[in-house]
This record gives sequence, C-alpha cells and structure tokens, in this order.
Amino acid sequence: MKLYHLPTGLLHVNAYFLVNPQTNNAILIDGGESYKAIKKAEQDLGVKVTALLLTHAHFDHAGNARALQKDGVKVYISKIDAPKLKNGLNLAGDFGRQFEPLDADVLVDDGDELQIEGITVKVIATPGHTDGSVTFMVDDMLFTGDTLFLQSVGRTDFPTGDKNQLINSVKRLFNLDGEYKVYPGHEDFTTLSHERKYNMFVDYD
Ligand SMILES: [Zn+2]
Repeated sequence: MKLYHLPTGLLHVNAYFLVNPQTNNAILIDGGESYKAIKKAEQDLGVKVTALLLTHAHFDHAGNARALQKDGVKVYISKIDAPKLKNGLNLAGDFGRQFEPLDADVLVDDGDELQIEGITVKVIATPGHTDGSVTFMVDDMLFTGDTLFLQSVGRTDFPTGDKNQLINSVKRLFNLDGEYKVYPGHEDFTTLSHERKYNMFVDYD
C-alpha cells in the first residue's frame, strides 16, 4: 500500500490517497472541495479512486463528495454525520460555499473493520469536533480529520461540537498501544508519541 498526500483548497485540507500498488485503485480519505484537484492527482499518480472515506461532513473535507460519487466513487461516512451531507451542518452556507448534497453509500460505525481495495480500515469513533467525527486506522497510520492536529486539537465551537467529548476522543487515541503516525485533516503530520508528550490540550501521562 502506498500513501500520497495532497493539500487542497483555501483551508488546506489534507486529502490522502491510499493506493493498492497491484491494481492502482485508491481509497481517498477526505477529498477536500475541488473535484478538479482530485482528477488531476489521479492522472498525475496514475491511480483511480474508487472509495471516499470522510472523517466528518464539513464542506472543506466533503465538498467534492457528490461530484466524485457521480463518477462511481463509493462514499463512506459515520451514520451520525451522514445527515450533515444534506443539511446546513456541513457549514457550507456559513462560509458562503457551494455544497452539492448527497446520500452516502456506506454508513460506518465505531469498531467497523472495512476491507476496501485490499486495504483494511478500522473505524474509531472520535466525536467532539462534530458528534459523528471518526478516525480511520490503517496499519500504523491514523487519519484523524479535525480531531487531532500537530500539538493541537480540533475546534469544538461548531454545531454538534463538544469540548469534553473531543478531549476524551483524543485520550482514546493516546491510549492505543504503541506508536502510530498521525495524518490530520489540516497542517502537518505528527506521531502519537509526540502528541502524548507535547499536546497541551490534553492531560496525559
Ligand atoms: Zn471540520
């Protein structure tokens, strides 16, 4: 499995391509807003995205989901955040952005183990940024969306956000055994051991 990273859009959402090198088919984690950017990346990388996994429904992560879905890409999201793909809670309206509503293809839940393109993806519920935010675990990698960032955590002042929930979610990640690479929805990559030590927002020892 190969990982490629593409920062997209004004809000610099990190889109991640997980590619099966045998087939060159790819899972995309959080596509961002631009359909064109994903199409171009597919061409540049020589891959074909067949599944889009959304950490949550906010427009800056999910804005191109419907356009990709029309190409046959299967869209995955937690059952709690799924309705936000069709209502104002994706925040597109608040930020003056267009958002084409959609019904997700697959609703996921805490503890699910997905097999997609020969890649095993575990779903960890990490509510707090939104009530339906999830982290996707693939091997020793955590795709944390807007839950955990390099020495920071996600905002909790948007609708369905909850600070205590967020802190508990980050602690849940910190309590995983061993070391993981952390690939957040924005900004730089980090590791779980770095965050256990240096993240000032969460008491942990
Ligand atoms: Zn968000």
